[in-house]
Amino acid sequence: MWEFDPAPETADPKLKARYELFIDGEFVAPKGGKYFESINPANEKKLTELALGGAADVDAAFAAAQRAFDTVWGKMPGRERAKYIYRIARLLQDRAREFAVAETLDNGKPIRETRDFDVPMAAAHFFYHAGWADKLEYLAPGRRVQPLGVVGQVIPWNFPLLMLAWKIAPALAAGNCVVIKPATNTPITAVKLAEIFRDAGLPKGVVNVITGPGATGGLIMAHPKAAKIAFTGSTEVGKVIMKSIAGTDKRMTMELGGKAANIVFDDAPLDQAVEGIVNGIFFNQGQVCCAGSRLLVQESVAEAVIAKLKTRLRVLRVGDPMDKNTDVGAIVSKAQLDTIQGYLDIGVKEGAELWQPPFRRPAKGFYLPPTLFTEVTMSHRVAREEIFGPVLAILTFRTVEEAVEKANNTEYGLSAGVWTDKGSRILKLSTELKAGVVWANTFNKFDPTSPFGGYKESGFGREGGRQGLLDYLQVV
Ligand code: NAP
Ligand code: MG
Repeated sequence: MWEFDPAPETADPKLKARYELFIDGEFVAPKGGKYFESINPANEKKLTELALGGAADVDAAFAAAQRAFDTVWGKMPGRERAKYIYRIARLLQDRAREFAVAETLDNGKPIRETRDFDVPMAAAHFFYHAGWADKLEYLAPGRRVQPLGVVGQVIPWNFPLLMLAWKIAPALAAGNCVVIKPATNTPITAVKLAEIFRDAGLPKGVVNVITGPGATGGLIMAHPKAAKIAFTGSTEVGKVIMKSIAGTDKRMTMELGGKAANIVFDDAPLDQAVEGIVNGIFFNQGQVCCAGSRLLVQESVAEAVIAKLKTRLRVLRVGDPMDKNTDVGAIVSKAQLDTIQGYLDIGVKEGAELWQPPFRRPAKGFYLPPTLFTEVTMSHRVAREEIFGPVLAILTFRTVEEAVEKANNTEYGLSAGVWTDKGSRILKLSTELKAGVVWANTFNKFDPTSPFGGYKESGFGREGGRQGLLDYLQVV
């Protein structure tokens, strides 16, 4: 285990003691008068409290959004809408350090990630979509495109700010108004982003932020005024939502779970592949829908790759997320830590071999060291089910066909990785793998221009790029 000098990030997250709902351009108290706490999973301390939105608040938010759509936003020329979206992007950049610290405190992910990934990527999504706002006709040449109206959106806790940007930026660029709910575990950057909407002068009601529990999310998804709903979260909740709106004319996109295969062939540059494997499953503590949680390694190099992985994991720094040296931070909640721990027990019980580097658990906070399972077979639950934690199931294969067969043998289909020196093999696998994204000799690379989304139980619809925008428009 490494000992090192701490290098804590010191920027002020500027947290208020209490946050209200953001409805019709104002911060307002919830009609039910209730609040809930958000804690820092790194030390279990309370950060702030937030309004618990209920049915009356959701109704008020949809009424405000519909009014804004009918009277202002839906009629505004794209070039004018773009100015607001650019302003949001720039204000987010201005407050980047503050947002990075707030996100790290609320979620437990390392400050290095929020500083270098979450916040700049969120700003990039607003910039990219601002650029589209006055060019929507080029999405469907010869046809007319129209906004849908009010969209209801619900997001998870793993990339709170980035998911806000993925959802809100295309909706606004397309001319829609928004009612959105962040996850209970990580609501802070949503209400801080609402401050930015207000400061950017975004017309009132265009975006409404309702904090609250899953039941409140259910009300948003099924609301009669929602012309379209967009959900990111678990496959289980996604199915509940689909049932709740069956028979309505709502448009819907679903970004759900994953169990991606990261496939390493014997001709791959192995050191580079090991870095890609580590990034694929230990980025954001493995709480990533497209995480490379199944390593498929060619038998002839399996021993070498596993040995290199263990050497690398011994120097991965697990600890205080606010420390700039930290690689792996805290798990988002006690409940999520318990779920992951449950899978470790299941894996051992099913006969897989568990390996972890030496690790000293801090007295407070929800931590888990990076974990490997070897001696895994395709029937093991740790190889089939989404664990959503820093746990890698390692399987081997002999032939290309076997690799494809094993990679596709899952209910999910969000992403996959291929590590090989052969361009022809990359091309072949990128068509044969049933996954929305196939990364070649890299992993977890994101860009607002490229569409992201799933096959099978990983969902439908795309976010990002042309395809993502089209999901927010009616083509007539
Ligand atoms: P989750 O339990 O499905 O929650 C996601 C969001 O839905 C949260 O805001 C949650 O609120 C809300 N919610 C819960 N029950 C609801 C209901 N009945 N109706 C409407 N909304 C409801 O998922 P999670 O555990 O937070 O997140 C992890 C999951 O998200 C993983 O399965 C992961 O794969 C998936 N994910 C997918 C993507 C993707 O792009 N495909 C990206 C990130 C995460 P509360 O927080 O209040 O419970
Ligand atoms: Mg949840």
